[in-house]
Formats: sequence, C-alpha cells, structure tokens
Amino acid sequence: MYADVIMEINVFKNKTFTYKIPSNIKVEIGSRVHIPFGSKKVNGIVLNIKDDYKDNIQLKEIISLIDDKPILNKEQIYLIKFLRDNYLCTYLDAYKVMMPTQLKLSKNINNIKTEKKYYIKNIKEVNTKAEQNILNLFKDKDYLKPSEISNKKALKILLEKDILFIKEEEKYRLNNNFEIIEKIKLTKEQQKIYEEINYSKDSIFLLRGVTGSGKTEIYMDLIEDVLKENKEVIVLVPEISITTQLVSRFKGRFQDKVALFHSGLSAGERYDEWRKIKRKEVSIVVGARSAIFSPFTNIGLIIMDEENDESYKQENNPRYNTIDVAIERIKYNNAKLLLGSATPSLESYARAKVNRYHLLELETRVNNKKLPKVEIIDMKTEMKKGNSIISSVSKNYILDRLNKKEQIMILINRRGYSNYVICSECGEVIKCPNCDISLTYHKNNNSLKCHYCNFQINMPNNCKKCNSKYLSLKGKGTEKIEEVLHSIFKDIRVIRMDSDTTSKKSSHEKIIKDFNDYKYDVLLGTQMIAKGLDFANVTLVVVIDADSSLYISDYRSSERTFSLLTQVSGRAGRHDKEGNIVIQTFNPNHYAIKLVENHDYVNFYNNEITIRKRLYYPPFCFIVAIRILSNDFEKGSREINKINNILKSKLDEKNKILGPTIFPKINNIYGFQTIIKYKNKEPIMKVLEEIDLHYINSEVKLEIDFNPNRL
Ligand code: ADP
Ligand code: ZN
Ligand code: ZN
Repeated sequence: MYADVIMEINVFKNKTFTYKIPSNIKVEIGSRVHIPFGSKKVNGIVLNIKDDYKDNIQLKEIISLIDDKPILNKEQIYLIKFLRDNYLCTYLDAYKVMMPTQLKLSKNINNIKTEKKYYIKNIKEVNTKAEQNILNLFKDKDYLKPSEISNKKALKILLEKDILFIKEEEKYRLNNNFEIIEKIKLTKEQQKIYEEINYSKDSIFLLRGVTGSGKTEIYMDLIEDVLKENKEVIVLVPEISITTQLVSRFKGRFQDKVALFHSGLSAGERYDEWRKIKRKEVSIVVGARSAIFSPFTNIGLIIMDEENDESYKQENNPRYNTIDVAIERIKYNNAKLLLGSATPSLESYARAKVNRYHLLELETRVNNKKLPKVEIIDMKTEMKKGNSIISSVSKNYILDRLNKKEQIMILINRRGYSNYVICSECGEVIKCPNCDISLTYHKNNNSLKCHYCNFQINMPNNCKKCNSKYLSLKGKGTEKIEEVLHSIFKDIRVIRMDSDTTSKKSSHEKIIKDFNDYKYDVLLGTQMIAKGLDFANVTLVVVIDADSSLYISDYRSSERTFSLLTQVSGRAGRHDKEGNIVIQTFNPNHYAIKLVENHDYVNFYNNEITIRKRLYYPPFCFIVAIRILSNDFEKGSREINKINNILKSKLDEKNKILGPTIFPKINNIYGFQTIIKYKNKEPIMKVLEEIDLHYINSEVKLEIDFNPNRL
C-alpha cells in the first residue's frame, strides 16, 4: 500500500509525496505520520491511500504514526482537496484554515488550561466537624474546587485518609453563564416559512426578510428541530455582528449546547471551543466565516445570516467564498442550507429567481410593526443654508430625541477627524511615505495616520514643500462629527465606535453595553454600527455622507451602498417606539439611495440587474482577479504583462480579459491586476494552474482571487 502525504515544507507546498506503508503500521487517510525527507525526518498528513504505484522510483517508507487516531476525518480531507482545487491555494493553507493554530502540522502546541478538582473516593467515618463540613458540601455537587474549601487542614486529612482525591482536569476558558430565554411563539408569517423549510425536499433556501421581520426566531425554531434528530448546526454571522446581543440570544435559548467561534476570542479560547465541537460536547456553533470548518460530523443545517456580507469572503489564502464551502458541506452531509438577509447579494437573489435556491420572503416586520420612515436630504441645498455637516432636519430630530430621552445612532463611514490635509498655498496633499495614499488627521493625539500601513507622525506645523503654515483639514470622519455634535448640542453624550476605539479586546462589547444602559445619547460610528444591533430605545438613525461608498469605482458599489443604508435603517424603531431615518447625501436621486426610502429591495434588484446584464458583470459571468505584487515596479509590470499575454493566447474570446491595471502603492508594494470575466471555469483553471506553478518561488508574488470583494 502507498500513501500520498503533504508536509510543512514551503518549497513543495503544492505537491503530495508518495511513501510506502510498512505492513506493521495501520495508516489511515487523515493520519499524521513521521516520514523521512532528504536527510531529515518530518511530519506529514496522509491525504490518500492507494494500492498501486507505477513509477520506477524507489519509494521511502513511512516511519511511524504520530497520533492514535487520524487527526482529520474524511470530510476534512475532502474539504482540503476542494479548497486546493477550487482556489489554487496550497494544501498547507487549506489545512491551516481548518485547524486551530495549536494543532500545527509539524507539532502540537500545548495550550490547554487545567484546574484542580476534589472528588469523593471512599465514604468513611470522619472524626471532626470540620471534615464533616467539607463532605456536606458535596451534597449536590460531583466535585469541589480548591476555592470552595476553606479549611485546608481538614482537607489534608480527608486526602490522607483516602476519602477524597484530587484530579487535574481540563478547563474551558469562555464563560458560559447566560440568562435563559424562553421560546417565543412564531407569528403566522414566520410559521409558514418555518414549515416550508422543514417540509421541503429542497436543500438551499434564501430567506429575504426585511430588518426586524423575525428571521432569527425562525432560525432558532429550525435549529431546535435539527437538534431533536441528533444532528448539528452551524450558524454563520458576519464578523462584526457577533455581539453580546446575538450571542446571548442563542446561548439563552440553547444554553451550553452552543460553541462560539470568531476573531474576538483569544487563540486559547478558540482552541477550547474547537475541542468542544470536536468532542461533540456542543451541537451548535455560532461563528464568523471560519466556523464553516467546524469539525462536526453530522450536520443537519447550516445558516448564513446576512449572506451578502463581505466578511464571508476570505482575503488571504485560501481565498474561499464561505457559501461555496457551505454548499459542499451540506451535500456531503445531506443537510440543508439557509441563507438569510434583508438585502441578498445580486447573485443569490438571481439564483433564487430561477429556482436554484428556494426563495422565501417576509415583507413586513413582526406583528406588522412599521418600518421606520426614511427621509433623504439633499446636502447641496443644505450647504447653501450653511449646514455643511448636520442638516436642519437632522438637527430638529436630534433635539427632539434628546428631549424625549430616546437614543440616536449616527453613521459616517470614515474614521479620524479629516481624511486629508492640503496646503492652501501650494496645494500639496500630505501623503504616506510608504503608500500612495493621503494621511488622515486624528485630533485626539494631533497626529497624521495612514489607514493602510499604520504609519503615524505628529501633525506638522508647516507645509513640507513650500513651508507655508496654512495647512487645511479637508473631509470629515467620526472624530470631526463628534466635535460638531458637542458644539451644536450642549451636554450631548456621545460614544464613538470605530476601529480606533475598538482595538482592545472586549471594548466593542463594552461600548454596546454602555449605550444599551443609556449612558450615552448617541452611538456614532462607522459601518461597524450598521449590522445586527438591536437597541429598544433607538428611534433615530442619521447617515452622514451616504454617497461616499458610491464613488468607489467597483461594479458592486451601488449594491454595497443600498445594503449598508438598508441595514442601518433597520436599527431604529425595532421595539415599541416608531423610528426615523435621515439619509444625508449629495446624490438624492441615485437609485441606490432613493430606493432605500421605501425599503424597496425588489426594485433595487431590478434596476441593478439590468445594468449588470448590459455591462456583463456577475451574476451574468464570474470574475477572477490575477494580481502581481512587487516592491519593484519594473519587475511587477513585466510579470503582469507576461501573464496577460499567456491569458490572451490560451483563452478564447468568450472570456473577457481586462487589464492590467495598477493599484496605488501600499506599504511600498506595487500591485498590478488583470481580471477575467468568464462563464466556464474549466479552461480558466487549466491556464491559471499553469501560471500559478511559475510563481511558487518567485521574487514577485502572485495572487489568484475568485469572485474578489474589490476590483
Ligand atoms: P431579524 O432577524 O429579521 O432582524 P429578529 O428575529 O431579530 O428579526 O426579530 C426582531 C424583533 O422581533 C426581536 O426583538 C424579536 O425578539 C421580536 N420577535 C421576533 N419574532 C417574534 C414573535 N413571533 N413574537 C414576538 N416578537 C418577536
Ligand atoms: Zn505648500
Ligand atoms: Zn501607508
């Protein structure tokens, strides 16, 4: 027998190596093995076992097994191959994305917390009251922790008499106490959808439901049914909406059956949660993108909430799309996939319209609660009235809410104080020395920061070019809005949420809790505040510069703008009080803004799909981006041109090749990109695989990115 093995050696990261399996070792697919490699011994993982080997080369033998059981199960091996074949990543990249960092291919890192516990061994007579007191503590407990026993002398005697014994046991780091939440009875509309999903033979469902239509409650009832069948559930949510709020809803309902998995956890906590999943101590995981790889073996349902969110696409190797992996897993497990969103991606909605996904729609909020009233304010007219930042309508609403002791959310999708600094004399804009990007002024520490490479300097007094002292701050960000709010509204209490205020662990949760406890009137933030949050007392949302995301030249910018505005509009008036939304823009008639007024996804879709069709963009084709990154402009441009020529010579004209284009320099790296619009993946994969091989040990870096988030 022979085994194909992958190992952690960079040079050969795309390849498997074949070894002979000695008859006395029971090697299985997924086993970790010791193997000779050159003069060294290394570790590898068996990806494949076969009976024959045709080549004439003398094969080496596997030396030994590392673990008692295979470290990867069959489905995980299948997924490694799937990632490798579909995203052209290395086997090693695929292994790493699926496994906790503690379980490296080459070695395990011991990162398990333990705690001491006392158990009863033999029941015997005791001599003293103190000893008896300790034993009484065991009445309704299996074990006691050292902190629960105060009389250490009596404890010592009990141990010596063999009445108690001590055991060092594994301890999970995450706190697991959550208030129990009772199940809510679904409304008729919810019930209908729940039943349709449960009784249908289809496997992929798209639930489009306006914000607050009760999607999460439907998810939870479906989950309950899956658990009754002893199957497992993966619930995926966008990275930034995994807040205490959502977690306490799931933990409140399903208690300790839930594991959590997201980047806000420490590596140790993640490892603990992963072990709970692997050991089947839990049957639900709630997590961000990478939770799709949870090592469950009997999945009944996968839910992707806010399925159109960008965080479902991984931006480094393996550059996978979570939905692709989810579809593979439900096929493998014969399970169901439920995609949910108020604003599905154009691709998903198009698929649902041609019945590739089973479409379900909820047009109203729970119990017909009104959607908030949206007003679109033309800032061109406001500017003329002297209101350059906060419109008069917004001002009136804010005053009204402050009086009524209701709360406000304000969105501006830029952090810092002003987004660039320009010399009024010579027009020089202060740029980052490492990037072709202007620096952002941060007032809190009077500095200029690069948001791409983190370069930072003190704000200079003079222009570097002409020495003039007239430097002016242009554009606006969260810090500036905070200052303006304080200048207009006396005593207003504002809390800011952007990546500057949330860099510390748990700071995100603290801001949300403080705002929820009404320590602040206003939650001011970037798109971080747009998703998933639910505050009963918020009755006003103001969006500043709603069109800023429209100017990014990308075929998805309208879609992104519409869904961001719809999402954030859903944050107001979710409970008893009615809500208002004010959208400030210089582009009040753009369809991506105008249609937010009536929460009109369907018309937005119809508009947008016509444009996509005319310009030949997804869902009418697929896109792959091929990028070259280099610190040497000449080398980089030479390589991208080479690639362009190969593509043009090997692909027929049904495939549209666009490029190359150049990115602004970031961190002293030049980026070049060519994109291919295609329908048929096979010929594309063949050429790209060939190209990929050329750049394994190259000075320039090649990136191949299917369905990229940005063009
Ligand atoms: P979505 O996920 O679509 O945004 P949620 O499930 O969060 O909607 O529901 C919105 C609000 O309505 C929540 O506060 C939730 O508790 C409440 N809700 C949902 N379903 C019901 C129901 N059947 N009866 C009463 N309240 C409900
Ligand atoms: Zn100057
Ligand atoms: Zn920079």
